[in-house]
Amino acid sequence: MHSTAQLNQTMPRILLNFDLNGTLILKDTSKKVDDQYMIISALAETTFASWNGKQSTSFKQYVYTELLPGDKSNPHLKLERQKTIGKFVEWLKKNQHPALESVEKTYRTIIDKFTDSKTGEINFMIFPSFYVMINQLRLNKIPFTIILRTFGSDLPEVMEEIEKHPDGVKFSYQVKFDGPRLIVNGMRPVEKADEIFDLILNSEKHFAIQDDWKYWNQHKEQALYGKPFLYDLSGTRAKNLSLFFDDNITGDEHLDIIHPCEISGHNIVTQALCDWLIFPVNTMEAMLDDNYFTNRVMKALKLSELDKK
Ligand SMILES: [Mg+2]
Repeated sequence: MHSTAQLNQTMPRILLNFDLNGTLILKDTSKKVDDQYMIISALAETTFASWNGKQSTSFKQYVYTELLPGDKSNPHLKLERQKTIGKFVEWLKKNQHPALESVEKTYRTIIDKFTDSKTGEINFMIFPSFYVMINQLRLNKIPFTIILRTFGSDLPEVMEEIEKHPDGVKFSYQVKFDGPRLIVNGMRPVEKADEIFDLILNSEKHFAIQDDWKYWNQHKEQALYGKPFLYDLSGTRAKNLSLFFDDNITGDEHLDIIHPCEISGHNIVTQALCDWLIFPVNTMEAMLDDNYFTNRVMKALKLSELDKK
């Protein structure tokens, strides 16, 4: 007979990096927009169709490449695009676009799912799929570390909500990236990818990390300056599996929101990491499908077990 402790030694510790806005929550206080806008924006990002008789893209991409093309980080263009995306439903009506019906239906489904049955108020909290995943990991006795990762300003609020939730976790570390260096209170900045990784892995505690948006933005939002994604394929550490969920992952080597760094320097082409270790999150599905994160984590775990055999 194996004790649970023995069995757990053969299970990798799963390090789960989670973006906040668009991945775990809909809200984005840094954008100064309301909940209504956030739903419409998520719909615009996840509705794929032909908008002008050309190939199928998301409506958001259509706005960025056809209606208002240009520099992705230009503040004036950003505002114009935001306005256009906010009028997605009006655009569909005006153009009598066939996607209108399904977009309106999904909109209704979201409102219903997130309306408090007692108060009748819409409450956009952390997506239920996050807690379903945590419960499944606990049920299967899989050790895990939650690592919140955000460029935005919602970290304290999200930490509090997760800590208060009956299925939540406690965050022992609230830290930040300054460029590629991790700043931990009371410690010298941690510079090297493998040292940062070891600190997180070996602590066996949950982390809330403020990523360095300025550093990324000042470098034209290139992957090299994005949120560091530290993963380990070296086989030299305690068994682990590192995953990153973010709705803005492009999988592009040059322009991406994350910067994948294999801790021994043996990086794999970013595209090959997609849907294996890094997951471009579909906000709508993460909101509406309670098994969204569980399915992906379990699949990644199976793949990693197959690898070892
Ligand atoms: Mg996001």
